Amino acid sequence: MAVKTMMFIDGNWLYRSRNAVFDKLNEPNGFEIDYKKIPSIVCEEVANFLNQDVDPVRTVYFGTIPSQRSGFNTSKQSAFYTFLEATCGYETNIHEVDVNGSEPRNDEDWVVAALSSSLLYYAAMNAYDIAIVLGEDANYEPSLRCARLLGKRIQIVGAHQSPDNKLSQQGGVYLKPKVSDFPPIFIEDHADEIRLVRETHKRTCRECGAEEDTTWAGPDFYCSHCRSRHRPADQDE
Ligand SMILES: [Zn+2]
Repeated sequence: MAVKTMMFIDGNWLYRSRNAVFDKLNEPNGFEIDYKKIPSIVCEEVANFLNQDVDPVRTVYFGTIPSQRSGFNTSKQSAFYTFLEATCGYETNIHEVDVNGSEPRNDEDWVVAALSSSLLYYAAMNAYDIAIVLGEDANYEPSLRCARLLGKRIQIVGAHQSPDNKLSQQGGVYLKPKVSDFPPIFIEDHADEIRLVRETHKRTCRECGAEEDTTWAGPDFYCSHCRSRHRPADQDE
């Protein structure tokens, strides 16, 4: 019988650990990450380790965004979260934070608290057998231990190269006793697979019907000729 897995992604951690992935492939300027592929890459490794089929129930992503009041242009960030939901099949859990400079930011605390609550809620609801946590904050320790007391197993995904100083000093949560059931998976070890490769294919222009080679994977395709006349706002190549 397949084991049910649920993936819990600490968005702050994932964002910062991209550098470890870039370094692994010697690409200091970075590259696009294939967010859609991350859950299946990790689940495959879990399935291989267990030598058992894995049934990925859900991927839940936790992140923050500056509030409207902050006056920041958050359109790119909110488009990214929409993309995670609509294209990658993630469920997103996004918290608005005030970014006015007068108070300390609590983005990381919020993500840790929200992820921990959700992990325990779904454990109590018996929604999964194994929780896969992409994140390393030491403050995950209590919730991971509690989920294990409920009979759930924990897989932690971390990075060999810690994404920040706090983690370098403390070490990832996977080093703590009684928090996980499997050896950690390290994200850089999958750098090659996580790198987004855009394939070129022929598509038909929605306006004039001409065929053209493109890497554009969005819903509506316009050829270069029609595009230069109209420049639809959301299609940049
Ligand atoms: Zn056209």
